[in-house]
Amino acid sequence: MSLSLARLLALAFSLLATTLLAAPVSKPKVMLLTGQSSKYHDWVKSYPLVKSYLEQTGLFSVDVVISPGNGTDMSGFRPDFARYAAVVMIYEGDEWPAATKSAFVDYMKNGGGLVSIHDTDNAFPYWKEWNEMIGVGGWGMKADGSIGARDLSSGPMIRWRDGQIVLDATTPGGATHPTRHDFIVTTCAPEHPIMRGLPAAWLHANDEIYSRLRGPAKNVTVLATAFPDKAKFPTATGEHEPMLMAIAYGKGRVFHTTLGHVGPKDLAPFAPLTCTGFIVTVQRGTEWAATGKVTQPVPADFPTDTKTSLRTP
Ligand SMILES: [Zn+2]
Repeated sequence: MSLSLARLLALAFSLLATTLLAAPVSKPKVMLLTGQSSKYHDWVKSYPLVKSYLEQTGLFSVDVVISPGNGTDMSGFRPDFARYAAVVMIYEGDEWPAATKSAFVDYMKNGGGLVSIHDTDNAFPYWKEWNEMIGVGGWGMKADGSIGARDLSSGPMIRWRDGQIVLDATTPGGATHPTRHDFIVTTCAPEHPIMRGLPAAWLHANDEIYSRLRGPAKNVTVLATAFPDKAKFPTATGEHEPMLMAIAYGKGRVFHTTLGHVGPKDLAPFAPLTCTGFIVTVQRGTEWAATGKVTQPVPADFPTDTKTSLRTP
């Protein structure tokens, strides 16, 4: 008995379709952009951990892009942003060439994703579009090399009062933080994809509560805050400071986490970076920035409101 031509064709077609369906689905590509820190931070210590956290999700393929070093020629620095679903940045350093800035703005306006980690929000204090992407930022290098470019003129501070955003454009003062300590991170947007299922409050390990960040503060959703207590710390603001934020920029999505300090003198393990809360919010925030969704379940070792949780890298 022989198969008719029609049946042969049908069989061949079904085999082809099966093969196509079984082909591995390529993962969204994420660029981890790093390579410069101020004297207060150390990208060399932080980026390998963040790279491993992104890869542990199984959701992304991660390319590390390392910029030229501080004070060196940046003119050839032109990452190909358009090839990536999201750009995760640990970068507090020199200005990029105008063409690179312009390409990044285009990328974001056309639906790109950005994740800004800790001191990355200290970068580019005078770059208007960058400040819009991150919502608010801290410190920042002045032209004379001193710290403190972001001040009252940079825009309002975001205050979280009575369950909503209040913009304070009149109180002067630049960024600050109390000495490092364990502190409670409080969820403000429990239905946001990044936050859904996370505890209402959880204890983050030995980090800096970035305070009095300033910027345009447009299109910002405050996802979580922390409270620097004036009774315990002389430099505390006594305001619920935004720790995690989601910002809409054009068609793009930005996840801004102020968590994740590591300094040049710190020795491993780095508590802020190995806190399960930091890890999970970066993993979820990157998925959201890349795709607009979060499919990752909340792990059982997430910190509680009384107990920190650190992972061994
Ligand atoms: Zn820091």
